[in-house]
Amino acid sequence: MRYGSTILEQAEVLGAITEEPGRVTRTFLTPQHREAGSRIIAWMRDAGMEAAFDPLGNVVGRYAAENPDAPLVITGSHMDSVVNAGKYDGVFGILTAIACVKDLHARGKRLPYTFEVVAFGDEEGVRFGVTLIGSKALGGNFDPAFLDKKDANGISLREAIRNFGGDPDAIASLKRDPRKVAAFVESHIEQGPVLLNEGLPVGVVTSIAGGTRVRVRVTGTAGHAGTVPMPARRDALAAAAEMVLAVERHCLERADTLCGTVGKLAIPGGGAINVIPGDVEFNVDLRSGDDSRRLAALVAVEAECATIAARRGVELSWEPFFHLSAALCDTRLQARFAASVAAQGCPVRHLPSGAGHDAMEMARIAPIAMLFVRCGNGGISHNPLETMTAEDAETATSVLLHFLEHFDPASPGTH
Ligand SMILES: [Zn+2]
Repeated sequence: MRYGSTILEQAEVLGAITEEPGRVTRTFLTPQHREAGSRIIAWMRDAGMEAAFDPLGNVVGRYAAENPDAPLVITGSHMDSVVNAGKYDGVFGILTAIACVKDLHARGKRLPYTFEVVAFGDEEGVRFGVTLIGSKALGGNFDPAFLDKKDANGISLREAIRNFGGDPDAIASLKRDPRKVAAFVESHIEQGPVLLNEGLPVGVVTSIAGGTRVRVRVTGTAGHAGTVPMPARRDALAAAAEMVLAVERHCLERADTLCGTVGKLAIPGGGAINVIPGDVEFNVDLRSGDDSRRLAALVAVEAECATIAARRGVELSWEPFFHLSAALCDTRLQARFAASVAAQGCPVRHLPSGAGHDAMEMARIAPIAMLFVRCGNGGISHNPLETMTAEDAETATSVLLHFLEHFDPASPGTH
């Protein structure tokens, strides 16, 4: 084994750099971010790259082409984590790319493009409540208003960048030139059970799901739990319960393209055991790799909820407050990845990504592609139980290396 065991050892090293002893929590612009980034810089240099922190705290490693005017291919993923995270989410996409460069460099092989490996400082958004800050900057979607966002201690993003030694005024300059970037590719642990259940080490991602979030309020009439006869009630919670099941049923019937979740539901004020609930608020989260199907589901689910509300005599307020379009992976890059998977003797499985990734933001400036790696333990992620085997890390790295050596920037794919 050439790469797999090293990558897992490096993931252990990074996993031990944490804000909370005993579990992995590493957030943006903290001393732990600096320490993890410094390790990554050292590994990048050892692999034959130039590497440094950029003004936002991303680590950027470069393996330059001989021709200074050659196009750019970027890969990478995030080095921050959620609270009490797994060790491979994000980190794997950085380490696998460093392993590829180390292999190329040892053979004295340069690529027909300059290869950048980026360890994004923030993807999860734990500290400042804005996700994908690193890739938003490189993709040109960093809103200067983010700089005023504050963490739990009242420190603004602007101050935190300065304290880290970065430069908030230089963020606009981090946007990569779309004319130069031939592709952005990201390797990532699947964070779900599809590859595991099918006995496959890797899969080629078709699209990253878009999402809609809706704030729903159901208003009935509060009343005494003992005196209001059952047929006369306008129970907001019973109506909401029926709506929650309608969301589930609608998405279950279209489970190949749609996910729907009610993850938050409350009776304002907390409710009381002897009071018929007069008010309920809940949120709906709808996701799909296909925007038209998501938008169709949004209309259909609202209509179902309105029917339930009318039948039960309650009022419905339906307020979508967040929309994110799906990011499609470039078909020619998918085909290139599929060929590289087949070259390792593995069956080719295409699958969508239900979770968001840095590649979504990079899709603004370049054709994107993603490789998923099997996630053990039932596919659990964002959790210390997240696992990956050295064999799968090895296979995925061989796939990426094959991809990089066969990718022709003169025909980078459509965008
Ligand atoms: Zn991730």
